[in-house]
Amino acid sequence: MERINLAPQIRASISPVEDLLREAGKIAQASGKRLFLVGGVVRDILLGRKSIDIDLTIEGDALEFASHLPLTRISSHPQFGTVKLKEGNINIDIACARSETYPHPGSLPQVRWSTMEEDLARRDFTINAMAFLLSPADFGDLLDPYQGRRDLEEGIIRVLHKQSFQDDATRILRALRYKGRFGFKFAPPTLNLVLKDRKMLHTISGDRIRREIEFWLREEEPEKIFGDAHQLGVLKEIYSELSWNEEIDLRFRKARKFKNSSLYLALLTYQLSLPQGEEFIRLLKFPRQQAKVIREIITLKESKHLESPASPYVVWEILQGYSWQAVYAFCLSQEGPASHNAKLYVEELLPKSPFLSGRELKERGVPPGPYMGKMLQRIRKARFSGEVKTPEEEKKVVEDFLRSFPPP
Ligand code: ATP
Repeated sequence: MERINLAPQIRASISPVEDLLREAGKIAQASGKRLFLVGGVVRDILLGRKSIDIDLTIEGDALEFASHLPLTRISSHPQFGTVKLKEGNINIDIACARSETYPHPGSLPQVRWSTMEEDLARRDFTINAMAFLLSPADFGDLLDPYQGRRDLEEGIIRVLHKQSFQDDATRILRALRYKGRFGFKFAPPTLNLVLKDRKMLHTISGDRIRREIEFWLREEEPEKIFGDAHQLGVLKEIYSELSWNEEIDLRFRKARKFKNSSLYLALLTYQLSLPQGEEFIRLLKFPRQQAKVIREIITLKESKHLESPASPYVVWEILQGYSWQAVYAFCLSQEGPASHNAKLYVEELLPKSPFLSGRELKERGVPPGPYMGKMLQRIRKARFSGEVKTPEEEKKVVEDFLRSFPPP
């Protein structure tokens, strides 16, 4: 096989840890082991992208090897043969090379130690199935048994074998994520497998699906992924009532400046009814905070309170307690007064919290409890109406209130 060495690219992408990788390669060699840089970091180096997470794989005992490295240990999992280390703000994961077999679709794999070549064979896509050798004599040599570099150059996502999505259907969701992130295409046989095996998503737990959706929502342009997922019939397999259209796509793009995954989640779930929202939360096991955002956006859509023009104080009264993500998603999904009121809340009212903190109010003689609540109401009214513009003016409102309505 042609020898390709990419040491200069490694230097350009991950220069802060190059010396460390060379040192680690020497230490591995001293005990007769081959050490590799693997997976996404290799792909990113070849793409000329900076990487901050380093994945290393050693042919042998990762825990024993890690004990020779001069790094801070974050955690280790002897049962999986993995260790997490840290160098400055760079995370370094070390694993032992292993092969995996799947007893039945969707099950957890059976694992055993192996060579790097066997380890690459269990990976998801050709572009993720490459490794750089770190041994001193061959530092930077590329191991690329599935022509991942060629696929990377041609912009193609390709599985390693036709059983891949059946072994692990989360790979369908990963495939869509990489396609959207890099603007790649599916190799035609891989596309056919997505269509044939999308039903296998039902073999995957809600937790695992949700984690993949969370990764989608954290991408730069999540709407591309959702658009593809809809077109390929994958969105319906995630939850039968989820759909996608140009309007939602546009709302996602309008929300871009916030780069906030809860905001995107609210935009996605705006289309659901309350019972559907509850079913979606239950199926994908959304944690409390995300479940709250989903419930809020649907409640806002179904309530009519914001549909007519209202004063800032009334808008505040209606919306206080709602997460800003749900309110802003509502703003982007509606038109007219409802949208205007929601925008007012997020852009003008929320940033205008009282100048004085609760502690400062206490120091000025405002007792905690219902009286403090009334005082805050008075302050907000004054701020939202423009009566108060400075901390001094706010202090005056507090003093007047204390004089006119002395605390009990
Ligand atoms: P990202 O930039 O999205 O983090 P990554 O490639 O680093 O990309 P990880 O999820 O950290 O992604 O996975 C590391 C590597 O492990 C992948 O590059 C791939 O080789 C392998 N991998 C991860 N998940 C799977 C899977 N479900 N099936 C097969 N291989 C996988």
